[in-house]
Amino acid sequence: MPFKSLGLNPKLVQGVLAMGYGDPTPIQLRAIPVVLEGRDLIGSAQTGTGKTAAFALPVLQRLLKPVAKGPRVLVLEPTRELAAQVETAFRDLGRFTEFRAAVVHGGVGYGRQREALRNGTDVIIATVGRLMDFIQEGAIDLRNIEVLILDEVDRMLDMGFIRDVKRIAELCPKSRQTLFFSATVPPEIEAVAKFALKDPARIVIGRTQSVNESVKHAMFPVIYDQKFELLIALLEKEDFQSVIIFSRTKHGADKIARRLKNENHSVAVLHANRSQGQRTTALEGFKNGRYEIMVATDIAARGIDVSGVSHVINYDVPENPEDYVHRIGRTGRAMSVGDAYMLAVPEEGGDCHDIERFIGARIPQLKLDGFAYENGKMPVVDTSRPFKNPMRSKKGQAQGRQGGGGGGRQGGRPGGRSQGPGNRPAQGKGGGKQAGRGNPRGGSSRSGPASAPAKASSRLRRGR
Ligand code: AMP
Repeated sequence: MPFKSLGLNPKLVQGVLAMGYGDPTPIQLRAIPVVLEGRDLIGSAQTGTGKTAAFALPVLQRLLKPVAKGPRVLVLEPTRELAAQVETAFRDLGRFTEFRAAVVHGGVGYGRQREALRNGTDVIIATVGRLMDFIQEGAIDLRNIEVLILDEVDRMLDMGFIRDVKRIAELCPKSRQTLFFSATVPPEIEAVAKFALKDPARIVIGRTQSVNESVKHAMFPVIYDQKFELLIALLEKEDFQSVIIFSRTKHGADKIARRLKNENHSVAVLHANRSQGQRTTALEGFKNGRYEIMVATDIAARGIDVSGVSHVINYDVPENPEDYVHRIGRTGRAMSVGDAYMLAVPEEGGDCHDIERFIGARIPQLKLDGFAYENGKMPVVDTSRPFKNPMRSKKGQAQGRQGGGGGGRQGGRPGGRSQGPGNRPAQGKGGGKQAGRGNPRGGSSRSGPASAPAKASSRLRRGR
């Protein structure tokens, strides 16, 4: 999604282009709309993710509407280098707009900074100690602050500034918008956030942390109709660094990617219908952090070195147990990537049984906390019995692969998978969705329910 689709004023888009930025980084994609809306925000993101522009651009947009009194925006930074850097970013990004900014930090004389404050300013970018000095001498009035930005709060905590930060927040109007950035949010920082923010949106970028640290691979049982919602909830809940989402079909991969993009995730797609150029760009972008998520089919993903991938999500339970292993690491060791999750509908219990037998381990079934399961209950995937395909005779398999409505199971033959039309789910009307509600093994078709993604969703990319 380009910058201009984020709701930014053309003058700011022009500023972004002048900076040479291509697409927004993940934090920008997710934070800019939230900040434009006027909501408070907690962003867990480090320097290097593009977070300065994520708050500067929407704040500059607010400044386009002139009001008589200032200063209107206060940015607190832990160090003078950061304060100077953020001031430069404001000036660079806002070069086609009119606003006044003053930077206030220690290590230099007071005179010029005092003069800048006296001349009037819209934005103050400050370190805590010097700002407190100016507040005490009455050179700064914070009563008209509309947006308070607390940047690198974890560093401010380490440096012993938290009490002053709280005092400064108290001096700003209660009706202000507060944007809070911290690479991590341990309990002390959470307490500051609670003190300073109202109903904040939370955005987490680029950190790895599991739902349950002890779980390396897990299954999330879900009914077909809630599958996509659960994927989104999982992406929101977890701090993913880089994720490969596996879809059984090319069409399914495209659909998942489209919906994720709609939710402001940065997504690359890899499947056999894409040109070599598109595939190379997708892979490179994924490897260098431009895209946070890669949606891929099994065959296309074979060339990927997944060792650097933090998470694999099997959106569809793979048809063959071998594919599960390929998806996870291609080494035969099912745990060679960070965490591996599988969304499984109850009808896929037999497939899950086969996978568990193949890898010699049970896959724990997890409930996603806070997810609104239909009827309030997580479904159960019964993995006690192997998959039985009534059409498993040779004739049946052939019919399955060629049948118009769905994909035929290929009897677990290694390398026997095909991305041909026979494996395509019955799209849209009838086929896929209905099959998902009923018996997905009906006839020779079984890829329908698992392959067709349900609802829409979300986020990121690591900016450099
Ligand atoms: P920050 O995390 O704000 O310190 O930004 C890190 C670096 O990424 C800075 O040099 C920015 O100029 C650069 N940057 C920010 N946003 C983008 C973007 N959308 N595309 C490319 N570079 C960016």
